[in-house]
Amino acid sequence: MARPTKVVIDLAAIRHNHQLVKSIAPASKTLAIVKANAYGHGAAQVANALSDIAEGFGVACLEEAVILRDSGIQQRIVLLEGFFHPDELETIDALKIDVCIHSDYQLKHLLEHRFSHPINLWIKIDTGMHRLGIPPAHLQQTLDAIKDFGAANDVILMSHFACADETDRSYTTAQIRCFEKTAITGYPISLCNSPGVLAWPEAHHDWVRPGMMLYGASPLSLENGFSKQLVPAMTLQSEVIAIRDIHSGESVGYGATYRCEKNTRIATIPVGYGDGYPRHAPSGTPILVNGHKAVIAGRVSMDMITVDVTDLPDCSIGSMVECWGKDLLVKEVATHCNTIPYELVTRMTGRSPKEFILA
Ligand SMILES: *Cc1c(COP(=O)(O)O)cnc(C)c1O
Repeated sequence: MARPTKVVIDLAAIRHNHQLVKSIAPASKTLAIVKANAYGHGAAQVANALSDIAEGFGVACLEEAVILRDSGIQQRIVLLEGFFHPDELETIDALKIDVCIHSDYQLKHLLEHRFSHPINLWIKIDTGMHRLGIPPAHLQQTLDAIKDFGAANDVILMSHFACADETDRSYTTAQIRCFEKTAITGYPISLCNSPGVLAWPEAHHDWVRPGMMLYGASPLSLENGFSKQLVPAMTLQSEVIAIRDIHSGESVGYGATYRCEKNTRIATIPVGYGDGYPRHAPSGTPILVNGHKAVIAGRVSMDMITVDVTDLPDCSIGSMVECWGKDLLVKEVATHCNTIPYELVTRMTGRSPKEFILA
């Protein structure tokens, strides 16, 4: 009998969420963001499940782009941080990968390279995130240099939002104003991540760049009519492998941090931080057993967690456990863990096998 812990990825849910993007931003092309192994969901499988409906894919580095090309993806693939070293340009050229240009050193290396194919360039402008991007005042000279270079095919102007998920709309409004003042007409534009798609229709423009929403977790701090239609794609599931009755006053788990205040029934589940379940999930973090809500009791170990099932009389060996998924949103678990759904799904270690379903 195999360890029952697995990560089930519902590719049909990802397609549904992509269709939702298309219905929200019907005039925009989608660059489906599949960096970090598609936020833990399996980049090659996700990209192939979307290859007939997404116009392109976004990744964080060339290694991630190569995985997609090797898996048969023929659409454009964009390196969202461009290249880190000029050594990468030969492969970028050979595999026809799009690059972002966020800094002058990249432009310099690009202009010095002899390309055998025209290259698509995404010029990243810093409108207020202050992480990557050329200063607005440098845009014209950057575009002039690219024009002289001659090997560019599409040139797209892009920027990234810092606060588009928040209910206070002032910062994003200022970023949009900055972009409007800076942008030079005649170029396609790309501004929106998932919160931008969901809450900033005026910023959709030519290309949207949804990541998290494809995987079915809402990035918004306050849900709206669109975010409520997202379908979670990842279920981290397992089964109960042990049950014991603990007397009031006894403790559970490492550090004996959890003391039972009454007689307590504890179920042990073979999923832990070795699988990517967050070690910092505190006692009280919700989890589903047989579809009913229970809570973590005691520290998360590498291979196991312990759950208070005192109020679930039907819990037995083999009972189904959902750490998060369609019936317990990863966002709710993330809130208990003082983090965001992005981190919880992305940190899957690959130890528990993935199972892909398309139905
Ligand atoms: C990761 C990333 C995205 C996707 O962000 P989500 O909030 O997951 O939709 C979009 N654009 C860029 C430049 C990114 O790095």
